[in-house]
Amino acid sequence: MDIKRLEAWYDEHHRKLLFRETKDPYQIWVSEIMLQQTQVETVLPFFERFIKKYPDVLTLSKTDEETLKKDVEGLGYYRRFKYMLKAAQIIVDQYNGIFPDTYKDVLSLPGIGHYTAGAIMSIAYNEPYSALDGNVIRVLSRYLNIDDDFRVEKHRKKLDQINQSYIEHATPYKYTQAMMELGATICRPKNPKCESCPLSEHCQAFELGIQEQRPVLSKLNDKKEFSYITLKIYDREGFIYLRKRTESLLEGMYEYPQVESESIYDCLSQFEEEGIILDMISDQKTYKHIFTHQIWMMKVYEVKLLSKPKVDWIRFDQKDIKDIPMAIAHRKIK
Ligand code: SF4
Repeated sequence: MDIKRLEAWYDEHHRKLLFRETKDPYQIWVSEIMLQQTQVETVLPFFERFIKKYPDVLTLSKTDEETLKKDVEGLGYYRRFKYMLKAAQIIVDQYNGIFPDTYKDVLSLPGIGHYTAGAIMSIAYNEPYSALDGNVIRVLSRYLNIDDDFRVEKHRKKLDQINQSYIEHATPYKYTQAMMELGATICRPKNPKCESCPLSEHCQAFELGIQEQRPVLSKLNDKKEFSYITLKIYDREGFIYLRKRTESLLEGMYEYPQVESESIYDCLSQFEEEGIILDMISDQKTYKHIFTHQIWMMKVYEVKLLSKPKVDWIRFDQKDIKDIPMAIAHRKIK
C-alpha cells in the first residue's frame, strides 16, 4: 500500500474535527466511546460540551452516573457511559489520574475493546496498533479485493493482522485517522469517490469495477447468535453453583449461570442490582457452541459469591458435577 500517499492525503484533506486535532488520550477515548454506533455530526456538539464540563479524567471520575447520563442524553446506548465513568474511577485509583499508555492497560478498562484500544494507542501515543472498524474493513477489502465474509470473526481477525502489518510501516497516528477518514468520506458504502482516492492506483476492486460488492457481509442467517457471560460461581467453601434450565431448549439440564451480555462488568452490575455480589477471580477463554438454530458464544469467568445466591442457583460439590445432567454446551467448559 502507498502509505506515504495516504498520509499525505490525510494531511491535506481531513475534516478539522475537534477530536482529530488532539493527542490527549482522554479526549480521544471520550470521542471514540461517543462515536460507537453514532454519527460524527451527532457526536460533535456533545463532545464539545462534554470536554468543557469534564476537561480531564479526575473531573469525570467525580461525577455520578445519573448526572453523566443526563449530560449525554440524546446520544443513546447509555451503558457505554456507565463504563466510561467506571473506567475514569479506575484511572484515578490505579493510575493516579493519568491515562494508561500501554495497550494491555488500556484494553483492561471497562468498555474498551480491541478497536478502541488500538485507536487510543495509535492516535494518542503514535504506537502501531491496528484499529479495525467498519470503515477500515471496507477500505481494505476493496483495496485488496478480499471476498471473505467479514461477519465471520476469523476473517476479521485476518484483516486486523493485515491492517497491523500496514500500521507497522506507517506513522501510526496518521495512518489510523487516514483510514477512518478515507472510509467515512471517500470510500463510502455507496458511490465511493474513487477518482479522489489516494489508494486508487493499486485498488483491486476499483480496477475490476466491483467496489460496491466489497466487503462481503453475509445476511444474518436464521441461526441466531447469542453472546453470554457464563459464570463459574464459587462460594467461600469452594462449592459451585449451577442452574437448572427451565427454557424449552435443554430444559431440565444443568448449566453454569449465564447472562446475555458482552461485558462482565455489565453482568456483575446486573446481579448487584438484585443484591447478589460477585467478585471476579479470573477470566477464562471464550467457548462456542452451535445448536441447530442458535449459536452460543460464551465468555467464561470464574467469580466468587460474596452474598446470598440467586434463588434458582443450586450449590454443588465440584466433584459431583460430572454426575449430573449438563448441557453439552457447558460440559465442555473446563
Ligand atoms: S479506489 Fe475506490 S474502492 Fe478503492 S479504496 Fe479508494 S475509494 Fe475505495
